[in-house]
Amino acid sequence: MTRIKIKQLLQSEGTGQDVTVKGWVRSFRNNQFISLNDGSTNNNLQVVVDLNLIPEDIAKRITTGASIAAHGALVASQGKGQKVEVQAKSIEILGDCDPEKYPLQLKNKPSLEYLREIAHLRFRTNTFGAVFRVRHTLAYAIHKFFNDKGFLYLHTPVITASDAEGAGEMFRVTTLDAKNPPLNENGAVDFKQDFFGRAANLTVSGQLEGELGAMAFSDVYTFGPTFRAENSNTPRHLAEFWMIEPEMAFFDLNDNMALAEEMLKYVIGYALEHNREDIEFLTQRLLDEEKQKPQNERSELDLMQKLNFCLENAFAKITYTEAIDILKESPNYKKKKFQYPVEWGIDLQSEHERYLVEKHFKKPVVLTDYPKDIKAFYMRQNDDGKTVRAMDILFPGIGEIIGGSQREERLEKLEGRMKEMHIPTEEMYWYLDTRRFGSCPHAGFGLGFERLVLFVTGMTNIRDVIPFPRTPNNCEF
Ligand code: ATP
Ligand code: MN
Repeated sequence: MTRIKIKQLLQSEGTGQDVTVKGWVRSFRNNQFISLNDGSTNNNLQVVVDLNLIPEDIAKRITTGASIAAHGALVASQGKGQKVEVQAKSIEILGDCDPEKYPLQLKNKPSLEYLREIAHLRFRTNTFGAVFRVRHTLAYAIHKFFNDKGFLYLHTPVITASDAEGAGEMFRVTTLDAKNPPLNENGAVDFKQDFFGRAANLTVSGQLEGELGAMAFSDVYTFGPTFRAENSNTPRHLAEFWMIEPEMAFFDLNDNMALAEEMLKYVIGYALEHNREDIEFLTQRLLDEEKQKPQNERSELDLMQKLNFCLENAFAKITYTEAIDILKESPNYKKKKFQYPVEWGIDLQSEHERYLVEKHFKKPVVLTDYPKDIKAFYMRQNDDGKTVRAMDILFPGIGEIIGGSQREERLEKLEGRMKEMHIPTEEMYWYLDTRRFGSCPHAGFGLGFERLVLFVTGMTNIRDVIPFPRTPNNCEF
């Protein structure tokens, strides 16, 4: 008999029909009630065991974590908490699980830190089940959003020789002997003898290649892994993370902002619609977690309310210069509560971003027109000579979720800026060619996928929203 997934069974009417179900035992109460989960939904199916029907040697192998197949009648449940249950006629043990050794005996609620150490098993908990189903839905929704708008999904390379963007933050890719690399006349490592005949790295962004695509297809996006060897041990940085980078020809910064806001609202709405139960579960999880905190540190809105609030309200839009003015007028500044200085020209610190989003505007904020000296060379220069057409989108609890800009499409301006910033223009001939051959106004942005998943799941550490996090000193699994 074909197996039916638990999600589907829980939506069916229990009319006594025979079904086969497979999954992992979450618990076995009173030698009678199995809570069975197969990952298709956060909810467990109750399988009722009659010890007159199930041999004792089988029954005693029904332990937490064991994998089983149950065959029986799907009936309306007499107990509360579920609409239907399966009355088992036979049970097969597919894989035993020694309760003495199983690390997920859910008697005491395991901490998120402990579960990170057993990330190979944490998918089997309610919290991580919900998080990764939501992550899946968000990924799907992103592809759907762009596909429906006629964007082309462009696969930009993971290995790259261009280091224009993230000098110092890149992971080197090499097949040279680490103990005894070949040296050139100057005594430096001779990358001419390396696999690619030159030094190569893992990409920090697919943007530059994305721009090449936009100059032919109009609208493209990438969605792939990116790597940053930044030694920042924060709850918002990973060494390996996934980024979505749309790039649009004939877009200015206003078009870019509008697209980013529309996309974020679309994918959050999509998750609310398709992962309602998971988000309800995560909302409750966060409420329980916040009960440990003093009243004044708890969120005003719960997770579900926060997501809906984000959908229903227009993002605030201000320039960097206006943001600095707001910060200087703030009680935090006046009472010297900011750790870092506030001055036109500074790169905003997380405390500043959080003040703007969480205290001042209380909603997502789009900041534009940053000082050129704290932004990348490819951003379009404003006429004031001081600022560029950059935009960062800041989210409550997260800080920066998107970084983007209108790109500099004027060849002389772009080359001028590259020279000022000591970026080799000869090596970047391929990038500059787009400005030589049919250049046009264009714009794009990068969305950090894990930061989006953090926001939608209400988790607080980025290590808990990617299956196997890579961070400094951690590359387990
Ligand atoms: P931050 O200031 O938070 O380090 P950034 O300015 O370095 O971000 P960008 O280079 O603009 O970020 O990258 C685009 C997006 O990628 C960011 O808005 C963020 O959502 C995400 N991102 C950047 N670095 C990381 C990282 N180390 N781990 C996870 N996501 C990241
Ligand atoms: Mn960074």
